[in-house]
Amino acid sequence: MTGNGMRGKYRRDNLEPCGTPAAWRRHHARGEYPCIPCADAWNARCHAYRAERIQARRRCALYRDALDGLEPAEALATRDRENLIAELHGRRWTDVEIGEYTRTTLYTVARIRDRLGLSANRPRRVDLGQVA
Ligand SMILES: [Zn+2]
Repeated sequence: MTGNGMRGKYRRDNLEPCGTPAAWRRHHARGEYPCIPCADAWNARCHAYRAERIQARRRCALYRDALDGLEPAEALATRDRENLIAELHGRRWTDVEIGEYTRTTLYTVARIRDRLGLSANRPRRVDLGQVA
C-alpha cells in the first residue's frame, strides 16, 4: 500500500453502490445503460424532485394569494405567515389593519410581529389608501 489513504483494489468500494442516484450518474458518465436498481433510484430521485417543485409552486401561489388578501394568513406555513406579516408591516400597516386583511386576530399579529423584533406601526393621520 502506498500513502494515498486508499486501500488498493478496494478503492471502488468507496463509491456509492448500485441502486443510488450517484451510481446512476456513474453509469451515465461511462456511457453505460444503467442497471435496474440504479434506474429505479434515479426515477425515484426525479419524482421526488418534481414533487418538491410542485409543492414549492403551490406554496408560492398561496403566499401571493394571501398577500392579495384572497387567503387568510392561517392558510400559510409558519415561516410564510411571518413573511406576510413582515411584508405588510413594511407597508406601514398597523396591527389592526394587518389583522383585518389577513383574517388574523390582533393578538396573533402582535405576537408574530414581536417575535420578528418589529415594533408596532402607529396609525396614519389620514387613511385614504386603505379600502377593505
Ligand atoms: Zn447500477
